[in-house]
Amino acid sequence: MSFVRQIIKSTCRAVVPRRMFLTHGPRSPGEGKTPRCRHEVALTFDDGPDPDTTPRLLDLLDKHHVPATFFVIGEKAARHRDIVRRIVAAGHSLGNHSYSHSEPCKTSTKQFLDEIRRTQAFLEDLGNQPCTLVRPPKGVLSVGKQLGLWKQRMTIALWNTDPRDYLMQSQQQAAAWGAAYHPCAGDIVLLHDNHPWAGHIVEAVVSNSCHADRIRYVRLSDWL
Ligand SMILES: [Zn+2]
Repeated sequence: MSFVRQIIKSTCRAVVPRRMFLTHGPRSPGEGKTPRCRHEVALTFDDGPDPDTTPRLLDLLDKHHVPATFFVIGEKAARHRDIVRRIVAAGHSLGNHSYSHSEPCKTSTKQFLDEIRRTQAFLEDLGNQPCTLVRPPKGVLSVGKQLGLWKQRMTIALWNTDPRDYLMQSQQQAAAWGAAYHPCAGDIVLLHDNHPWAGHIVEAVVSNSCHADRIRYVRLSDWL
């Protein structure tokens, strides 16, 4: 991330309401709308739905009663509507990850905003509920794209914890990261449900007895 983008990101984090720009959730249990006794952590999954890995991940989340947020790519969602319906039926949040996941630096503001609108309309029709969470591909936004999203009343949702699961090579590597992860209140964990490693990370994190009693998993929509 460039120095300028880091400055923009930290400035937004400091002055823009969470409903517009989300990089982490409440940092202490009592900071939210209602006092909570546990630290809240959000698991998020990008780049699906994938017909092979997403259903297995949904089974795992269901087994552990863990709610999550899925930032789906519009054209994949159109090919795998049953998986999107299953995400919604299971109570997870749906987010918009553009229609084609085109390279940010090669995508004009108009094309990007058109993709977001197209995906939003599709997901709201399929899920029968509002879908205003947006995560731009690679987390990259120009000022024009950012302002355009806010004009459309979208919430820009980034992350603060990135295990870079898309670069992992083995189940052992994924499980080791999950076992070593020490969750902090308000963490937004970036994972990818089009890779098999996300499931192994989730399994290791949620079954870690060291922090099982002090962590509650939430959807990003729970923080808005
Ligand atoms: Zn992505």
